[in-house]
Amino acid sequence: MDLNMQNKALICKWLWRFTQEQDSWWKILIKEKFSDSGTKWFSGGISGSLGCSVWSQIIKEKAVFWRFAQVKPGSGEDTSFWLDYWRGDRSFAEEFPRMAAAAVSPLASIRDLAHVSIESVHWDIPFRTSFRGGVERERERFFDILNTLPPSVFSTGSDSVVWQAADKFSVHSLYCCLVKEKYEQPDDYPYKLIWQAWIPSKICTFLWIVHQRKILTHDSLKKRGWSFPSRCVMCAASEEDANHLFLHCSFAVRVWNIIGAFVHSARGTGSITQVINNWPRGKPANPKEWCTSTLLHALCWSLWKERNRRIFDGVANTEFGIAFRIGSLIALWLAVAGKVDIKAAEEWLRVLKSRTVDGGLNPELAGATVP
Ligand SMILES: [Zn+2]
Repeated sequence: MDLNMQNKALICKWLWRFTQEQDSWWKILIKEKFSDSGTKWFSGGISGSLGCSVWSQIIKEKAVFWRFAQVKPGSGEDTSFWLDYWRGDRSFAEEFPRMAAAAVSPLASIRDLAHVSIESVHWDIPFRTSFRGGVERERERFFDILNTLPPSVFSTGSDSVVWQAADKFSVHSLYCCLVKEKYEQPDDYPYKLIWQAWIPSKICTFLWIVHQRKILTHDSLKKRGWSFPSRCVMCAASEEDANHLFLHCSFAVRVWNIIGAFVHSARGTGSITQVINNWPRGKPANPKEWCTSTLLHALCWSLWKERNRRIFDGVANTEFGIAFRIGSLIALWLAVAGKVDIKAAEEWLRVLKSRTVDGGLNPELAGATVP
């Protein structure tokens, strides 16, 4: 048993009881003490006065609790538009702090601001100021979210808090969710492929970030609120995202083709996450399979470094240079780890160099065997 997770689950039981019990003396006491902040569904912060240390520990787990619980608005009367967790695990005040700070009624309920009909929801949210610069973009995103909320977000009857992790709240259901989050990966997560002991950990971490679709390519930056015209620095023919950069860009395709003459490489046509998921996972049995098992690390890392050099240093390498870099990394990792013979790796690199950097390789003519 994980005692830390069990402790969190037990603490969250109090937060659950706070949402469910109306007239309990302890809840009335806490609401009385912290009525300045907080809502019907959670209490506000602790100002450090005597006798509150227990509750201060409890509300520290608020973020954990609201990942699995959610306010389900009915009439919206009891739910704070800005402060409550009624769409996802972040409140509007947490997601759009500058908007919340400028709201005329920061404590308004949903019902105060929403006009719900069968077909649509109309929002009437007054602000004390007009927005410019970065805040203007925040405002657009804010109203984009609001305007796409369907009327089905609102149920009939009164507001309530629902437990999303199971049919009904239990300490056990929360404990299971927390443990699952901490220890388990999705069934198809290619753990052994990504985390290989002989590849530098920063490059394993890099491939993991790529697999998680968290790499900061232009599309990710735009999702984080940046605004700029996106153009792939490798081919200048398309917008940049991870799938384009590592798979579909004409520059990347040429690199894949060159290196494919030396190492097994099925580029795939889907997303880079799918390619990583579908990559051969069996324990490598010969040098060729060892090369395959490390190719994605070397290839994605080299393309990413090249992309950054072009953007930040203004220098560009050729696809032959990148292919040679990829081969060098693979040979280095496997030779140091003792997976291939060092002399054979050196010979392989010599051939690779003569047919890439020195020669300009025609992939069909490449016949170098792997070490
Ligand atoms: Zn491109």
